[in-house]
Amino acid sequence: MSTPPLASGPQGPSALRPLLHTVLTALDTGARARGGPLPAGGPDAVAARIRETVGEILPGQGDPHALHTLVHAFAETAADPAHPLCAAHLHCPPLALATAADLAACALNPSLDSWDQAPGASELEALVTAALAEEVYPHSATAGSLITTGGTEANQLALLLARETYGGTVRLMCGTNAHHSLARAAWLLGLPEPLVLPAPAGRLDPAALDEALTRTPGPLLVAATAGTTDAGLIDPLPQIADRCTAHGARLHIDAAYGGGLLLSDRHRPRLTGLDTADTVTLDLHKLGWQPVAAGLLAVRNSQDLTALRHRADYLNAADDTEAGLPDLLGRSLRTTRRPDVLKLAVTLKTLGRGGLGALVDQVCAHARQFARLVHEHPGFELHSPPAISTVLFRPTDATDDTVAAVRRALLTDGHAVLGRARLDGRLWLKATLLNPATGPDDLAALLHLVAARQATLAEGNTPR
Ligand SMILES: *Cc1c(COP(=O)(O)O)cnc(C)c1O
Repeated sequence: MSTPPLASGPQGPSALRPLLHTVLTALDTGARARGGPLPAGGPDAVAARIRETVGEILPGQGDPHALHTLVHAFAETAADPAHPLCAAHLHCPPLALATAADLAACALNPSLDSWDQAPGASELEALVTAALAEEVYPHSATAGSLITTGGTEANQLALLLARETYGGTVRLMCGTNAHHSLARAAWLLGLPEPLVLPAPAGRLDPAALDEALTRTPGPLLVAATAGTTDAGLIDPLPQIADRCTAHGARLHIDAAYGGGLLLSDRHRPRLTGLDTADTVTLDLHKLGWQPVAAGLLAVRNSQDLTALRHRADYLNAADDTEAGLPDLLGRSLRTTRRPDVLKLAVTLKTLGRGGLGALVDQVCAHARQFARLVHEHPGFELHSPPAISTVLFRPTDATDDTVAAVRRALLTDGHAVLGRARLDGRLWLKATLLNPATGPDDLAALLHLVAARQATLAEGNTPR
């Protein structure tokens, strides 16, 4: 067998073109074979389909049709976030533009651990991280940001930087509404057990925070949330910031979801107070329509990043750095690092703030429309008016078991992907609307499907 063609180099584009044709065809036929937002039949049926398609994954002799076969099966068995009835998680449909840009990143494969592997990519990263830091901390001379694999890594870095600026330890204080990755990061970093405060209405209560700050010895890191994962609620940021200042606590704001509102002139004011935080998590694979991964940690004072400085002679020798080769190793805890910055740069530049802000406005408007449909439907209860693009609702008078069973039945049917959230002691169905192309008919169809499925479950009385 001759050497398989490479993605870059003089032959790269001509080798990729027919392969891309195969991929695009298989994406199309696979999606058609699926029909709905996810494959029908549940986990056993999907596993069987994959196993049957793949056969032996590492055969003695290769299979030249594997690209088509596997991409077709991959698409056929996917939960497609671009389907209007796929609305469970903060799982966005990526823009075609960003995906196309990511292909270039894959083809050239620059690695952002040293300048000699990523000469232009490292400068592009410097531009994009500066621009996004400026969005979070307008007119700041000291702010900066780092690209991460997502909110989880950004939250971990936020705790690490807090620990290091306090000289080795810090205690995390957050609400029950905070993302689970924060407590996990505290565990990973060997920090004391976090102090978790009740968040009765789904938001951190500044008075309760003040009381806890008064009785707890420091050093403390308060983590607030701008856009909770379950309900999309935004903590009262200015009041929280005031309490942190009064008690000398450091503040992190996890804006993995809500940070996208910065791009919208209409919704940006709801993040007032964001720039008071020492660190801010953003996640553009949520309200930013990027393929995974596209996370960011913004820091108010870039000085904090010196904690990440690290020397490896083959990547950033002191004499190379002195001679002017940029030192990239301190911009992440990873070594080899893919250029997630390219798709971000292309998206920001192509759409501009206006284009991205319009997408944010659209999904927020969809949530308000869906909430209105729920509110007007006698068979459903609405949890609360949506704060961002999440709507929590449940069939009136249903038990929690029925709510859970309706969700699973829709998954097994392959008809709709909805999430679940426990709030105020009850289980709710969760629609996270991140698809700007969803139409009013789609929203009505989604509610209709839920009502119909609940009716058949009630008839058969067989919650699964
Ligand atoms: C999604 C989310 C995270 C985690 O982000 P990943 O990109 O999944 O690692 C953290 N915090 C909040 C509030 C989130 O919604």
